[in-house]
Amino acid sequence: MGMFKKAISLALIGGLAACSPTSSPTDTGSPQHFSPEPTLALFEALSSDEMQGRQAGSAESANARVMIIERLNALGVKPVGASFEHPFRYGPFRAPQTGVAGAPDKDGVNVIGVIKGYAPNDISMVISAHYDHLGVRDGEIYNGTDDNASGVVGALAIAEHFSKTAPAHDIHFVFFDAEEDGFGGARNFITSPPIPLNQVALNLNFDMVSRGDNGILWASGTHHWPDMVPMVNAVAETAPVTIQLGFDQGDGREDWTLLSDHAVFFRSGIPHIYFGVEDHPDYHKPSDDFEKVDQDWFLRSVDTLIMVSEAMDEDLEEIFKMRQAATENE
Ligand SMILES: [Zn+2]
Repeated sequence: MGMFKKAISLALIGGLAACSPTSSPTDTGSPQHFSPEPTLALFEALSSDEMQGRQAGSAESANARVMIIERLNALGVKPVGASFEHPFRYGPFRAPQTGVAGAPDKDGVNVIGVIKGYAPNDISMVISAHYDHLGVRDGEIYNGTDDNASGVVGALAIAEHFSKTAPAHDIHFVFFDAEEDGFGGARNFITSPPIPLNQVALNLNFDMVSRGDNGILWASGTHHWPDMVPMVNAVAETAPVTIQLGFDQGDGREDWTLLSDHAVFFRSGIPHIYFGVEDHPDYHKPSDDFEKVDQDWFLRSVDTLIMVSEAMDEDLEEIFKMRQAATENE
């Protein structure tokens, strides 16, 4: 919790969303592909004490969804199905291992939108970020700025980009609930898929993309899909932040393969790349606050994610063939 948190009304967010891109907030890197002002305003609003840590099932979580959906509507992103909101019930993740009955006893809501591609095929990409966080514990608000308001607004910035420059392939924007509670939303997405999973070529998952404490944005997952290494490295050559490949093999927290929502795609044989920063002192602490973010680095991180998304959209048919070949070899 910061000493002071500005109250940002939904009306203000809506007003800012109507603004066109203006000058760069700094002289060290000018975002090329999206509007910094609504991005930063929504980032701060989702991080505010009023959001009470966005715990799954809370009233504040519903308020967070209102903000996300308002932005999707402003960008012209279409809902998947009758609504952007996809409610689900979920139970304990480790139930089968622990012998706990595991009855679904908790509620969550995923938010899902789509921008249609112009290519004459049905293959698609899922861009995901969880919007829930840890809520309030012992009277302290876990604001979850880096984890994961940052990924949410990063994904929305990509939606802004593709709303102006149509992608080749359908891009599904999925804002998962209950990631912090055993990937509840992501598990539901796989078990009750709202889109045909056999057409999903790639999942790009963002979780903690704003804290450039050491200046590195990690791309994790290419160890499992080496054909994507040159694709990511090509983006890294001109990206405005340093991309490094790794954290997808080894022990414990050295391997991030199963540590966020992309895990369920990996388990389902769907290629993924996870983007995130290394754990920092405010990780899963009440001090994961908006004031801790270097806004210039964050905006360049978002620009980088947009460049990655563009490149992967261009290469998506190749990635889909890679997925199909792996399935045939099993
Ligand atoms: Zn997270």
